[in-house]
Amino acid sequence: MFDIVVIGAGVSGSAFCRFIDKKYKILLVDRRNITQKTTAKTCGGLLSERGQKAMLSLGLELPSSCLAKEQVFGIRAIDFDSNKERFYQKRYFNFKKEEFDYYLLEKSLPNIDFREEDYLKSAQFQKDHIKLELKSGTIKTKFLVSAEGASSMLRRHFYKPCSSYYTAIQEEFKSNKDMPYHLASFDSKVTDFYSWIIPKDGRLLVGSALADQPNEKFELLKKSYQKLGLIDDIKPLKRTGAIITRPSHKDVYLGKNNLAFIGESAGLISPSSAEGISYALLSGYFLADSLNKGFSINNYLKKTNSFKRSILKNQIKSHIMYSNFWRSVIFSSGLLSTEMNIVK
Ligand SMILES: Cc1cc2nc3c(=O)[nH]c(=O)nc-3n(C[C@H](O)[C@H](O)[C@H](O)COP(=O)(O)OP(=O)(O)OC[C@H]3O[C@@H](n4cnc5c(N)ncnc54)[C@H](O)[C@@H]3O)c2cc1C
Repeated sequence: MFDIVVIGAGVSGSAFCRFIDKKYKILLVDRRNITQKTTAKTCGGLLSERGQKAMLSLGLELPSSCLAKEQVFGIRAIDFDSNKERFYQKRYFNFKKEEFDYYLLEKSLPNIDFREEDYLKSAQFQKDHIKLELKSGTIKTKFLVSAEGASSMLRRHFYKPCSSYYTAIQEEFKSNKDMPYHLASFDSKVTDFYSWIIPKDGRLLVGSALADQPNEKFELLKKSYQKLGLIDDIKPLKRTGAIITRPSHKDVYLGKNNLAFIGESAGLISPSSAEGISYALLSGYFLADSLNKGFSINNYLKKTNSFKRSILKNQIKSHIMYSNFWRSVIFSSGLLSTEMNIVK
């Protein structure tokens, strides 16, 4: 019997394993292969200031092996609805998600059982334990952690899904010009969320979070980018996808009794920017700290209010950012933007 089983070795599950006490018998399960760094979850791989603050507060450094070759200094924002664009200086780290996931996990590997390329099929709560059906067989645990990300099966079964999900598509293209920024674009014909281009190790990641007709609308996006000369070709080198949550503060659910949710499966991701790394790191740490203090999630649940408040703040920001009217006013005013002389 395990003390704790964690489903998902993404950012939140790996952060949890890094901080949980060695006295517990832990099993971490992921359907992906993390140690070979071959199958990273689709992600832009930008560590925002919020993410950097979370790393700092947890005493985590970012090794250079995790960094992409190109670092960016800000955002180029294009509003296709009002035909305006602005540059905003921002401090990001541009990182490689597969390296980052492995870096977070590596130090805890000697203290835990790790089964990769294995997955959870079902969970049954018994009187004094939880019975889990994995691809590799049946196991028992006293405590279960869902770190499964946006498509959490445990959340759907034992609570309820978040109120809003998007399909994220990300394609990789050849890159042949300098891009010292990451591009964010808004186009109501494509999505009511946003689309992006991020330079990454000699390639451009072109992505979008799409509410409906994802394939058709992604093609539309690429044609707009091609027209602006941002990409040369619309045939990608590689294509990946993921579900992305766009929660309201009411969607935040951290668990009950011997089942806890961390990261995106808890509904912790910014509904305005889709920044999720900081929430995943902090929720993983707070749950570990709570269980270290007495095998209870009570302390973890006390943190709910600060997470909920943060999501609510981003929800309000989102209403302004994604209103065509307010965005056009902000772009016209040039508020907080940086003057640029673009060298053609
Ligand atoms: C396209 C895209 C771009 C993004 N870009 C950024 C960005 O640039 N910066 C930022 O801060 N945030 C970004 N995010 C959000 C960020 O990636 C997530 O919020 C963060 O990774 C959540 O971490 P997590 O640990 O909760 O889940 P995840 O990182 O999604 O990890 C979940 C893990 O659980 C595993 N899993 C799921 N179900 C099972 C199962 N049944 N059995 C076994 N394993 C299972 C999965 O394989 C996965 O490894 C982006 C998200 C998307 C979709």
